[in-house]
Amino acid sequence: MKNFFKLLFLLSSTLFALENHSYIGGIAVINVGVFEEKPKIFYKAKEAKVIQKEESYFAIIGIGLDEKAGKRHIVAVTHNKKLDFYFQVHPKSYKKEFIKLKSNKRVTLSKVDLSRFHREKAKAKKVLGSFNKTLSSDLDFITPVHGRISSPFGKRRYFNNKPKAPHSGIDIAAKRETPILAAESGYVAISEEFFFNGNTIYIDHGEGVVTLYCHMSKCAAQEGDFVLKGDIIGYVGTTGRSTGPHLHFGVVLNSKSVDPRIFVKDYAGTKLSKSAFSQIGSEK
Ligand SMILES: [Zn+2]
Repeated sequence: MKNFFKLLFLLSSTLFALENHSYIGGIAVINVGVFEEKPKIFYKAKEAKVIQKEESYFAIIGIGLDEKAGKRHIVAVTHNKKLDFYFQVHPKSYKKEFIKLKSNKRVTLSKVDLSRFHREKAKAKKVLGSFNKTLSSDLDFITPVHGRISSPFGKRRYFNNKPKAPHSGIDIAAKRETPILAAESGYVAISEEFFFNGNTIYIDHGEGVVTLYCHMSKCAAQEGDFVLKGDIIGYVGTTGRSTGPHLHFGVVLNSKSVDPRIFVKDYAGTKLSKSAFSQIGSEK
């Protein structure tokens, strides 16, 4: 009987992440049916995450902010089968913010800073493009820190009508030195002070799923550490290019940043606070 309840709990906790959010910046959950073995799923020639629920397998595809709405295609492959599946990506618009600057002058990085930035970018890209088969997450995350969302996912800023890259995560404003928890168990793939992102941790949860934590006052886990969901991995700070203490929390699937609120129950269905559009405690 005890096991029965345990099973019920597992199923209900897994169901959450299996909801379809097939829009730009969301995740597509595609039932690919029954296979004799766990199929490999490919989306745009890149391997994607698969979850098994009861008899069926589900492909979990991250849909980047750079995607366009329309019909998409995945392939499910086993040693003797290759099946095609199709799904629809729906449009979704995100907040825009127009900022007028007196001049078009940008902050120019020194040669040293620029090469540092490129080195960090390459390191991050390698982690986000990895596909670790030894780990698998049910995508049921906890919030790494409680606080109001000071900048939502996907917001695009325009400086003098020139678009900047959209916001790839959520900013959670919180008091300095508030402990930051691992949203899910996994390997610490990066623990480093980055030029723009300040003290940063990337956790690899396997199968192309990575969570990242930026602007921390300090990192409390080292590269190669295996952390459990809820372990302290750092503390809220305002390191890097940041306007006040907050955590930038990001979730990446198949190399695409998606809305972290899809995976964190605390945020599901909650309206963003009025202050979501203030500039306090977010990064530039
Ligand atoms: Zn941010």
